Amino acid sequence: MMERLLLLIPTTSYRVSDFLEAACGLDVDVTVGSNRRQVLEKYSQGRTVTLDIRNSEKGTKQIVDYARQYPLRAIVAVDEETTVLAAKAAKALGLPHNSPGSVEAAANKHRFRTVLAEAGLPSPEFTLVSLDDDPAEAAPLVHYPCVLKPLTLSASRGVIRADDPAAFATAFHRIAAILNDTDAGSPAGTGDHVLVEDYITGTEVALEGLLDRGHLNVLALFDKPDPLEGPFFEETIYVTPSRLPAAVQNAVTATTARAVTALGLHDGPIHAELRINENGPVIIELAARSIGGLCSRVLRFGAGISLEELILRHALGFPMESLEREARPAGVMMIPIPRAGRLRQVRGLESARRVPGIENVTITIPLGQEVVPLPEGNKYLGFIFARERTPQKVEAALREAHGRLEFVIEA
Ligand code: ADP
Ligand code: CA
Repeated sequence: MMERLLLLIPTTSYRVSDFLEAACGLDVDVTVGSNRRQVLEKYSQGRTVTLDIRNSEKGTKQIVDYARQYPLRAIVAVDEETTVLAAKAAKALGLPHNSPGSVEAAANKHRFRTVLAEAGLPSPEFTLVSLDDDPAEAAPLVHYPCVLKPLTLSASRGVIRADDPAAFATAFHRIAAILNDTDAGSPAGTGDHVLVEDYITGTEVALEGLLDRGHLNVLALFDKPDPLEGPFFEETIYVTPSRLPAAVQNAVTATTARAVTALGLHDGPIHAELRINENGPVIIELAARSIGGLCSRVLRFGAGISLEELILRHALGFPMESLEREARPAGVMMIPIPRAGRLRQVRGLESARRVPGIENVTITIPLGQEVVPLPEGNKYLGFIFARERTPQKVEAALREAHGRLEFVIEA
């Protein structure tokens, strides 16, 4: 009998097709587990199972029941929302897994900061403020500038810099509104607080890694060449390999490895973000998942295999020829939403695609749809992909292509 793999995919994921495509190339049966069947059937000709992915206790029972009839070899969480469920279900079935506690700590920004600070990693000062508190009382007690953020959202949603007590109060109310929005979907007990951290200066990088029994393999280190100074922190350009000196890159890896150990993460993909200043690297975030959006499409390994295939092979214990990224510099730009309204038209696509070095420009929001910028929004207009001879050229190509695009958004 063929081995069976369970992919846990929230219906909001960008990555259904990339993971299914990777799974197709492997000698394995695939089940897609998600929260809504209708959405799944569009993508998956094979088997699907409807799961309560927001309630990991219930979801785990459903997976255990399912596995009685269809034994599972591995469970892979595709996005942030399913990492805890994947860990709990894998544990219940005796499959290789991260401990649920380690994944929960990575997914909750307050627990994450607490664990890292206790382990002695370089950390900002931080404090938790309840939504029931009066921000005017908390505001004089923190250092400025600071960053306010929800505990469990992602894609920089609700992350806001404040330079003074007035901005603190404004940011606080804005985050409270996001958390009160039922769409925010944060797990129970995390939607009623705001985390406040000291603002960390420095340039930012993202590290894509694969843990193998606790050992960190670095798959790619990305520079983020656009300044990320707030008040909102929209992700834009990622370029790899990093142009930072080797010693700094090594320090980034070492700090990430320490954070992995402190959290107790053990196996599978990680996505870490760090800032580097005169004191060295400081971890911003370490998630037990791979890079989000469609960004993974810039990565290829060994003879050309995708990040998704690497992750699935690792989870299944299948042989892996190489974890080495191809030599060619590559980059991606997440196209931010410039203002709120209805997306009516995208101009300049063909011209953007013709920029030398540009491999593809993908618009991921259908025309006619409402778009919401940060800090409330959680989507990108699309993604631009480039490969070139040098990281500088990759960055220049992404900027040139973006400059040729025009988004008609009607208020
Ligand atoms: P999310 O999980 O939504 O991506 P993060 O905690 O990673 O939230 O924050 C998003 C971005 O906000 C980071 O990539 C970084 O640029 C900025 N940021 C977050 N916390 C800080 C901080 N303490 N100091 C400076 N910048 C920060
Ligand atoms: Ca982040």
